[in-house]
Amino acid sequence: MDPPARDDAFAARRDRMVDSQILARGISDARVLEAMRRVERHRFVPLDQRELAYGDYPIGIGFGQTISQPYIVAFMTEALALGPDSRVLEIGTGSAYQTAVLAEIARDVYSIEVVREHVARATELLRALGYSNVHVRHGDGYTGWPDAAPFDGIIVTAAPDHVPPPLVEQLRIGGRLVVPIGRGDQDLLVLTRTEDGLREEERLAVRFVPLVRSP
Ligand code: SAH
Repeated sequence: MDPPARDDAFAARRDRMVDSQILARGISDARVLEAMRRVERHRFVPLDQRELAYGDYPIGIGFGQTISQPYIVAFMTEALALGPDSRVLEIGTGSAYQTAVLAEIARDVYSIEVVREHVARATELLRALGYSNVHVRHGDGYTGWPDAAPFDGIIVTAAPDHVPPPLVEQLRIGGRLVVPIGRGDQDLLVLTRTEDGLREEERLAVRFVPLVRSP
């Protein structure tokens, strides 16, 4: 654990991060803002990169994963339109930072990660931080988590080249799917499942690591 004085310094940086990067760019959902003020982002990056944790950029943290830019985490979380009773599925646990932000807001978070080492580390960290409403498992997120479906929201934090049909099927009618699509430059799509398909709500230019299919 860090000495209290350092934690206070990180808390001050977190407040500045929320004010200047997130609130200032139009994120207004009070639960999202509160979650971003609470979750200690510096605990989700490698020790030697903690000083960078509250910067306005993504950070590469090894094994083909990045911790997304704070604004993108806030944007995607708000786009899911979650409430305290929501059940949400995340594809690409990675550092588990986005997972923790979701866990502050939703009732249950299911998260799938394809790199086994990340699963072990994320599970351990989330337990140490006291999150009891998160379920992390190893696997290819393209196929979703049928046993836990349907979900009120699904967030994909690695980019496929098309919307995975299994994820659409595992979304309840009215639920939101937030997914970056494409190779290289991508479009982050915010989709709502309707009775007869998907309705696009908004989109944003982004860059995520590719979604890899496990053999
Ligand atoms: N949400 C994470 C982002 C991590 S980067 C964070 O905030 O830190 C994307 C992650 O998606 C990587 O950890 C990568 O291993 C994982 N990933 C890539 N393809 C995947 C797949 N098919 N299923 C599950 N996870 C996948």
